[in-house]
Amino acid sequence: MIETRSREIRLKNRPTGMVTENDFELAEVVVPDIGEGQILVRNAYISVDPYMRGRMGDRETYIAPFDLGKPLDGGCVGQVIESKSEKFQEGDFVLGNKGWREFFVTDGRGLNPIDPDIAPIQNYLGILGMPGFTAYVGLLDIGQPKEGDTVFVSTAAGAVGLLVCQIAKIKGCRVIGSTGSDEKVLWLKKEAGIDAAFNYKTAGNLLEELHKHSPDGIDIYFDNVGGTHLEAAIDSMNNHCRIVLCGMISIYNATRPPRAPRNLISAISKRLTLLGFIVNDHNNRMLPFLHDMGQWLKQGEIHWKETIVQGIENAPKAFCGLFTGDSFGKMLVKL
Ligand code: NDP
Repeated sequence: MIETRSREIRLKNRPTGMVTENDFELAEVVVPDIGEGQILVRNAYISVDPYMRGRMGDRETYIAPFDLGKPLDGGCVGQVIESKSEKFQEGDFVLGNKGWREFFVTDGRGLNPIDPDIAPIQNYLGILGMPGFTAYVGLLDIGQPKEGDTVFVSTAAGAVGLLVCQIAKIKGCRVIGSTGSDEKVLWLKKEAGIDAAFNYKTAGNLLEELHKHSPDGIDIYFDNVGGTHLEAAIDSMNNHCRIVLCGMISIYNATRPPRAPRNLISAISKRLTLLGFIVNDHNNRMLPFLHDMGQWLKQGEIHWKETIVQGIENAPKAFCGLFTGDSFGKMLVKL
């Protein structure tokens, strides 16, 4: 019998400062034969996500750090190519958490079947997966938008951000987005249909930019960035309004505490609510999410965007590209 060999990406160093491709290594292993109750899965797409940067340090947060010298893990979609399990048949498509590798053997725990007739399989890592769910619960449950609210979204052309923008539009809000290129600005205005968007890299003063686009102030800030974005948003918020703390990508590679926000004290006088959340705590909302997102997609109310990098050997490049703005929408690696 021919042995199956699988290439995988391992964490070589715990990055200090900006993560680089040198912090990873490519290795090849022989995949063990499957036993009774097990299946062999060939990954088709793997996900690289900003939260993984936190797992590359040695500190346990809400999730354990990655081990050095071992393959990383993360979201993946693939196909069962051999099965000795009653739960999965050869040919089934599955969503799992054994990314960063070409093949894996499993007893199926933690694996979910996915239907390629409903949507392209990689959508289960994006619009119908974790980023989509994050946008949904983050905006609707934590942000609680009302019709007419002004919503400011940072990293507005990222996987989560572009969905937050469009769900907010569906809910009748006025939406302003910040992003890192003119191409993304144009897409947000023309395709995603938001009211205003600006390039924070060329805009100069963030606060002035926010005042220009939201002269009546902001009611909800959906924060994906932290730092100076959060500071400018606090200054622009209306009284009794809400800041959804989803992510702070501007400080994931920082070696020193951030210099902003310096104006947190204004949260008191403005009676703001700043609320952080972790999407996994909201799994009871999965069914309404899949129902609503499915409807919005079918009715053409939501536009989606992916950046696809080819080959497991390029997964570190794809990951590092999240921090330099190389991704537009969801960053995926196709195997
Ligand atoms: P994104 O696709 O938004 O991340 C990549 C993008 O981030 C880049 O293309 C770049 O876009 C932007 N970016 C990178 N560095 C910076 C920087 N220094 N300042 C401003 N923007 C930067 O990722 P996701 O959509 O997957 O996630 C969005 C946020 O949500 C992340 O912070 C993530 O950690 C968080 N998150 C939180 C979850 C939770 O449960 N709380 C769950 C999932 C995600 P640009 O061109 O605009 O600069």
